[in-house]
Order: sequence, then structure tokens, then C-alpha cells
Amino acid sequence: MTKFIFVTGGVVSSVGKGITTACLGRLLKDRGLKVTTQKIDPYLNVDAGTMSPFQHGEVFVTDDGAETDLDLGHYERFVDLSLSQLSNVTTGQVYGTVIRKERAGEYLGQTVQVIPHLTDEIKLRISAIAEHDQADIAIIEIGGTVGDIEGQPFLEAVRQMRRELGPGNSLFIHVTLIPYVGPSGESKTKPTQHSVRELRNIGIQPDVLLCRSRRPLSKEMREKLSLFCDVAPEAVIEGLDTDSIYELPLTFEDQGFGDLVADRLGVNGKPDHTEWKKVVQRIRKPKQKITVAMVGKYMALKDAYISVTEAICHGGIANSAQVDVKRVDSEEIEKHGAAKLLKGMSGIVVPGGYGDRGVEGKIQAIQHARENGLPFLGLCLGMQCAVIEFARHVCGWKDANSAEFRSDTEHPVLDLLPEQEGVTDKGATQRLGAYPMRIMPGTNARKIYGSARASERHRHRYEVNNTFRSELEDRGLVTAGVSPDGSLVELIELPDHPFFLGSQFHPEFKSRPNRAHPLFREFVKAAAKYAPAQ
Ligand code: GLN
Repeated sequence: MTKFIFVTGGVVSSVGKGITTACLGRLLKDRGLKVTTQKIDPYLNVDAGTMSPFQHGEVFVTDDGAETDLDLGHYERFVDLSLSQLSNVTTGQVYGTVIRKERAGEYLGQTVQVIPHLTDEIKLRISAIAEHDQADIAIIEIGGTVGDIEGQPFLEAVRQMRRELGPGNSLFIHVTLIPYVGPSGESKTKPTQHSVRELRNIGIQPDVLLCRSRRPLSKEMREKLSLFCDVAPEAVIEGLDTDSIYELPLTFEDQGFGDLVADRLGVNGKPDHTEWKKVVQRIRKPKQKITVAMVGKYMALKDAYISVTEAICHGGIANSAQVDVKRVDSEEIEKHGAAKLLKGMSGIVVPGGYGDRGVEGKIQAIQHARENGLPFLGLCLGMQCAVIEFARHVCGWKDANSAEFRSDTEHPVLDLLPEQEGVTDKGATQRLGAYPMRIMPGTNARKIYGSARASERHRHRYEVNNTFRSELEDRGLVTAGVSPDGSLVELIELPDHPFFLGSQFHPEFKSRPNRAHPLFREFVKAAAKYAPAQ
């Protein structure tokens, strides 16, 4: 039988619930338990696919093609698992199902209500993931903050589940912020007390408090939190900022968090963090420091490309290098030129994106990388920009472009797939999720992957246009990876360059701190060898 851990948040949002959930998953996995995770997002969108990365950060993509909240990326990276669409539940999905069932007459004349119909549907979805993933432990993170109107049906559903599951089979962890009030130099527990009171109002008593704080919690503060919030003193865990998020599981373990949770759920087992400790050691003792540029559009928000940033970091871990990622807005390149903005960089990554804003700047950056032997990795739109750049400056097709940006060009080197023609709905209609790829013999990619086949995750509508493929190849653009029937280009590369590779897919989603994705591993290796012009 699966045991459940419910993670709620209080005081403020963005306090690190996702990472805490992910860390806890690692602590339990290292005890030999089968762990799965689920994120509940109380917004009305059916999924994150239609949400702007400016507002909500990156859209993460699972193997089965779900467009999800970025927290699933944290879960996959920390727990080293591959999640499915069942791991992201939204209000939009739950209401959608309940309304469909009502129209189908499945409620047999009843009045359809939030309790029990909506809450039953929520409970079904929570149980479904545990069953689907055959998990010993399912960690369910409820997005938002206690007290939000949107979150109430979900909190009510998990309140009901606690009783239904019976004693010892569930655990509630409340993640809060302990603010540090500047002038008096004090850390304050009061917001946490209020937040726990709010949680109790809806019938939930937390078992563990995880307090994010800039300063260590004093003994007095722990006692106060324990007394007022009614949790055991050892169940007050502090979450201090660390240099690297990957150190967090070990700092939690040091405080007894893993033992406490395992003990309360009756699943004791000795933790074996050998593999994780190796990751942390490499992070702490880099042999080299380099800076690579990430050239894109959504640069103001760090989370907009979080999987890409993490994958670059994993490439660093694999090469014992500390890689600082400098976010460069491609519109700035349009204004000031690539040479100026990319000075001192050891490599550039151009990630995915949509729409034509900033595209010319990305193309300029790629031209700079191609002409100067600067290591380049292009991801999805980044790869498409590399094809445009090559078509314009090597093949001499000055008007080359993607049909996404210009419909009147004679050289649409990227075009819609036939099945995308006429698609008007935006949600879940792109080419999504894992597809197999064949990697061509004799290519750099084949060496990097060490294999003739791979499966990678996709999220895009446009593809390299086969009309121009042989001409591009004749001029030296190597098609290094293709779909099994050869009809779609998956990977391109340039042979006479230290590292110039573009993927139509998103390798960043499959990278792990303990197992960097090969493309990122080799990109960082090449960047570490490159001596940047100062
Ligand atoms: N806009 C491009 C497309 O739809 C690239 C998408 C992406 O980078 N994820 O094909």
C-alpha cells in the first residue's frame, strides 16, 4: 500500500516547496523506497502549455507529452525518475472531468457539488498516480499558499484522505518562510504561526514544519514554533539557502528530516547517499571556472529556462567545472552586436522559444559562434536559428527564414509539419513528448551518444523543410540525427568546428545532476577547452 506525503505552503509563494518536495523524494529514494511525485496546480488552465514563461517559468515536458509545471523538472532531477501526465493535476482538469461526467449523466440526477464530487475527482487523481507508478511513497505537492481560494478543494480532499488512509499512512509537511526583519535584526515566527492556524481552520494539522530562513533557527525559535504550531521540536526543520540546490538533500538529512519522515511512516531503512555525495563533492571542488552565455528572449525571469540552466550545471558537474550561466537578451545583441555581448564567454547556448522577437539577435550570436569556433549548442528554436543562419550566410539565401516568422520568403528552411496545417487550438497541439531518433554513423553526435538510437522529448510545431535539406547538406550542414523513417531532422552539426550542434528536441529535460545529458556534458567539455577572447 502506498503511503502519502502532502506538502503545503504558507506565508508566501515561491518559498521552495518544489525543491523541498524533490529533496524529500531523494532522501526516501536513497532509503531504497520507490517514490513518485505529483504537483497540484490550483489554476484553471488545463495544463501549463498555454502559459507564458515570463509569468510562470518554463513549461516542462514529460515523456508522454504532457506540458507541465516546472516543479516536475525538479522532481525528475532530484529523484532521478521519469514522470507522466498523471504527475500534474490542475483545477482545469478536475473541473473538465466533472463537467464531462455531469453531461454524460454519470451523477444519476444528483446535484453536482464541490464536496463530494470535485473532491472525489481530486482524490481519484491522487490515488491514480500512486497506483500507476506502483510507489511505496507518493509525495503530493499542493501549489499556491494556504488561504488561497483556488486551493481549498484540494486541501479539503487531502484532509479527507488523511482519515481514509488511517494512522501512520500519511504525513503533512508545511513549508513556510521565517522572515528576517532588518532593523531589529530578528527572525520572526509569527507569519508561520498564522499560516498553521489557517491550515488548522480547514482541519489539517501539519506533522512537520519546514522553515525557509536566511538565518539558522535558534533553540528558542524552534521551541516557540513547536509550542504554537503543535509539532514536535525535532519536526521543525530549517531550510537555509545553500550555494547549490543539490546540497540541500544532505543538509536535510543532517537535521534528521529523512529519518523523521521514514519513522513516522513506518518505512525505516538506512539511507545510502553515496551517489548523491559524489555529485555534491564535484560541485564543491571544481577544477575550473567558465562562463557560458544563454542567448534568448525570456531572460528577465530566471525560471524561464530552468531545465537548460540546470542541464548546463550538470555538464559542469560531469567535467568538474563550475559553469556560470550569463543570461544575454538577444535583443541586446541586435542593438550592440554579438562580439561585444559575448566577450569572455566560453560557449553559447540558444534555447527554445516562440515568435520572432529577438530571433535576429540569436542568429547573429550563432554566426559569431560558427565563425569564431566558439562552442554552440542550439535547442529547438536555437537549432532552427542555426539552420537559418547557415542558409543565409553559407548557402547565400539572404531571405532564408522560418515560416513561423515570415510567410513570404522564397527559402522557408523551417516549415510546419503537414499535420500542423490548419491547427488553430494552442493547447496540447504541438509535437510533444518522447520520439525515437536514429543517429548517423560517423557523426560527432554518434560519438557523443555512443549509440545509434536515442529517445528525446519534443515541443515544437516547425521542422527543417525537406525541400532544402539536400542543398543544406551539400554545403556542409550535417544531418546527424533523424526520425526512424528519416523524414524529420532531429540533430544538426558542423564537422569543422570544435562544437556546433543543434537539436530539434529538448535534451535539457532528460539531464540529471548525477547523469548529465551527453549533449550538455560534451558541450561543457568543449567550452572548458575554449580560451575566450577577453
Ligand atoms: N517556435 C518553434 C516551433 O514551434 C520552436 C519551439 C521551441 O523552441 N520549443 O517549432
